Amino acid sequence: MLRTLRKINLVLLVLATLQGLVLWRTQSSNAATTFLYEPFYGNWNPSSKKYDAYPVTRTASFDHNLPDYNQSEPNSTFTFRDGSVVTVVPGTLCGSGGGERNCYNGHPGIDYGLTYAPVVAAYSGTIKYAGWESTNHDGLNLGLMVRMEHKVGSATPNYLTVYGHLSGITVATGQVIAGYDPNWKAHEQIGTSGTSGNSPRPHLHFEVRTWYNNAWKVVDPFPWTGPSGGDTWKNRSGVESVNLWVAAPRQYPPPGDGPVVIDDNNTNTGGFSASSGWTTASGGYNNGGFRWRYTTSSVTANGWARWRPTVPISTRYEPQVYIPAWTSTTEGNRTHAARYEIWSNGSHIRTVIVDQHRVGYYTDPNSGAITYSGQWISLGRYFFPSGTNSYVRVTDSTFGVCNQVNESNNNCSSYYSETTGTKRILVDAMRAYAN
Ligand SMILES: [Zn+2]
Repeated sequence: MLRTLRKINLVLLVLATLQGLVLWRTQSSNAATTFLYEPFYGNWNPSSKKYDAYPVTRTASFDHNLPDYNQSEPNSTFTFRDGSVVTVVPGTLCGSGGGERNCYNGHPGIDYGLTYAPVVAAYSGTIKYAGWESTNHDGLNLGLMVRMEHKVGSATPNYLTVYGHLSGITVATGQVIAGYDPNWKAHEQIGTSGTSGNSPRPHLHFEVRTWYNNAWKVVDPFPWTGPSGGDTWKNRSGVESVNLWVAAPRQYPPPGDGPVVIDDNNTNTGGFSASSGWTTASGGYNNGGFRWRYTTSSVTANGWARWRPTVPISTRYEPQVYIPAWTSTTEGNRTHAARYEIWSNGSHIRTVIVDQHRVGYYTDPNSGAITYSGQWISLGRYFFPSGTNSYVRVTDSTFGVCNQVNESNNNCSSYYSETTGTKRILVDAMRAYAN
């Protein structure tokens, strides 16, 4: 009996020691707190009217060799997180295969095949920047982008997340993004994905940086799985790539009722109204017409348009606007900063910036052919009380074409502004889903 007990005790002791070792190993090799949630719900499924249609694949990987965005560096080695290495021709895609096997030299983030779908904050925090990365809108940069600062188990910010190539941003610099919403299984929406900036086709560029050795350093949010000691980026920067993702259920928003569609054409005016001065054109939503006019960089608008739905019940709605393809002209004529005002119960509660310029732009990866398609762009989610006092309004004023989108700063004269009289703003259909 005693011997048996001793044996059991010994076994328990060994088990406890093993458990301790496992725990110690886990903690030492994975010391970082997991905090990231997937920064999207999914792609739009037209039949179920949910953002869940297709799995959102990771289309490009983090370069563990030298994630510095420098595609012309002489060292053209790309190192995947599993330790495999390819040589890329500087300035070109590696073309080594589909999915996340795609790489381009110096890529400091993860690319997701997200097409014109809401982008949500990966964690609560503060918007440090919301706007264009540079005055050269579609140059070598992230285009319309958002940068957030996070405090993860720390009193001071210790992580940054970056969201690039957006088609719209629904937040402003300085805004605080609240915590996880259990109804939506997500944090707040910060924009809509797209292909602005230096991007061949719609995708979301997602980047994580961590505060290490008194500097922000990019880090792969997925763990290094290659040979121990073989992570070039860890050896260079000191930061270790460990899993930063919370194991959360996939974020499926509740199905939307509706939608209420309000087109701008005369046979379906519904709640549409507009000032004079718009030119009509064909090729809009549902083979109908749409309207355009030249933008003004002045704060004072010359023209406006408004979609005023009859809201059946008081709840949250997701207004979306349709940007037509307008194949008769190039994207170069369209504005980089259409300003959509969200009005709830008669009050202006938010301004959403949409890049009409690159909406629908798609470069075929094989042939290189460029095509355009009409797209619905989500403007975020807002509480609308029942009735007709909540609406979306847009003007031809693009004074917000400053780099930085900050609603408290209406004077953007110190920033880049589009040339007056050359860029057009397009107005077509709007729809709203109750969710
Ligand atoms: Zn990217």
